[in-house]
Amino acid sequence: MHYAALASGSKGNCHALADGERTLLIDAGISLRQIRQRLDALDFHAGEVQALALTHEHSDHIGALGVILRRTDWAILATRETRQAAELSQAVLIPADRWIELEAGRPLDWAGWRVLPFSLPHDAADPVAFRVEAGACACAVVTDLGQPTALVADHLQDLDLLVLEANHDVDMLREGDYPPQLKARILSRVGHLSNAAMAELLARVCSPRLRRLVLAHLSESNNHPDLARFAAEEVLRGTSVDLHVAHQRVPLALSDLSH
Ligand SMILES: [Zn+2]
Ligand SMILES: [Zn+2]
Repeated sequence: MHYAALASGSKGNCHALADGERTLLIDAGISLRQIRQRLDALDFHAGEVQALALTHEHSDHIGALGVILRRTDWAILATRETRQAAELSQAVLIPADRWIELEAGRPLDWAGWRVLPFSLPHDAADPVAFRVEAGACACAVVTDLGQPTALVADHLQDLDLLVLEANHDVDMLREGDYPPQLKARILSRVGHLSNAAMAELLARVCSPRLRRLVLAHLSESNNHPDLARFAAEEVLRGTSVDLHVAHQRVPLALSDLSH
């Protein structure tokens, strides 16, 4: 099992999971051209993409949906509410024969992979994160959550790879020049995860099995990769977890996730 962060941040998100035969994308907030270029550059073959799973309808996660519907035959995995909200916000229709319905808390058998969407607190119609198990490998991609909940922590136990939001440093955000309403939204219970909240959640889910941690969805205005790293390193001290930071424009690939 292989993982790639093709893009991560408020200007567009796209993650890929591949086993050499098939590839599942999680979110498509960068252009289809960029998705294909970045997959090919990482030796993930764009032709192996079979499906796109949507976490929620914010445009940094589904901006390429219309083009993808027109130019590919990928299946679209989404909950009913996210499908409706995505159709409205992007002015597209997801045909019934391309839609695989997700329900938070209900695992889906997707070509032998176990894909489990689970709810998180965020200001969207029906936001989810994903835990994916394939063969001996378990991984999760968790971004766009205002706070770490017990339900989220429950779904992040015993992972080989965790991709986790570290959106902002609270002081940088408070002192920065975002408008007060936007600051309040990001800091709210349905906003984005701070470095400190990420570290708190990480401490609850860091198991001996965890080999790799990718910090994701970092704000370019209200965070610095070193601050996010320091927060995670405090928790990881004494472990052998490999720590990575996903970038908005520079893709990151991790291969052979299981051990
Ligand atoms: Zn986002
Ligand atoms: Zn969002």
